[in-house]
Amino acid sequence: MSSITGTKEWAGKNINIQTGCEHECRYCYAKSMALRFSRVEACNWKTTIIDRKKVEKGYSKYKGTVMFPSTHDITPANVEECLVVLDKLLRSGNRVLIVSKPHLDCVKLLCQKLSDYKTQILFRFTIGSADDELLSYWEPMAPKFNERIASLEHAFTQGFQTSVSSEPMLDRHIDIVIDKARPFVTDAIWLGAANRLANIIPRNCPGDQEALRKAAELKQLIDTTYIHGLYARYKEDPIIKWKDTLKKVLGIPASEEPGLDQ
Ligand code: SF4
Repeated sequence: MSSITGTKEWAGKNINIQTGCEHECRYCYAKSMALRFSRVEACNWKTTIIDRKKVEKGYSKYKGTVMFPSTHDITPANVEECLVVLDKLLRSGNRVLIVSKPHLDCVKLLCQKLSDYKTQILFRFTIGSADDELLSYWEPMAPKFNERIASLEHAFTQGFQTSVSSEPMLDRHIDIVIDKARPFVTDAIWLGAANRLANIIPRNCPGDQEALRKAAELKQLIDTTYIHGLYARYKEDPIIKWKDTLKKVLGIPASEEPGLDQ
């Protein structure tokens, strides 16, 4: 079997109910794929369309963990529809990995409505930097750092299983994110590097020279030396896990099965 990369490291099955995403991340792989296959235009990605059929249909039990969502996020605009689908997935006995750049109000609602399914849910909140200026540049419409940490703390204190994805890391200060997040993490903090930016940025941000320059800078920041330094600091830390983008640099064998989450 070929090496497992991207979201397949975490889950064998992804479920989404929306085209487009309000968060408008410049590095968004889902947006770049939608553009590549002419499903949207670059300027339309933030104009979201919920697929009602996917909200209304039934969901059975899948083999392994189900990741929800992977090509959009859970936002105040779609949280009710997301809850309908999550409820169906959980009722069918699925274990669900809920991945989000979290809005605190949405996380409060999810925790309240899904409290009967705590043992089947693992939250994974994306936090690639503690610097709001950087977050605002790369993920312009997503919540800022303090709101993401507050969301993590809320899910943790409500008794849910929690984890963090620092992929992509957006600066060389990921230790700050690790230190702030660690008290509220029951599972893992995943570290990863931005991937395929040279292909994604020209497609997602056509004609944007500043984005191209910042992408080149980011690639230089999270270089082999920085990655090996991180590994030296955290290799014995049981809470830290390494995404495929770092495994490749570090010589760690890639997963051979989807959804092992390791
Ligand atoms: S939150 Fe995820 S799906 Fe939405 S724009 Fe950002 S990377 Fe893309």
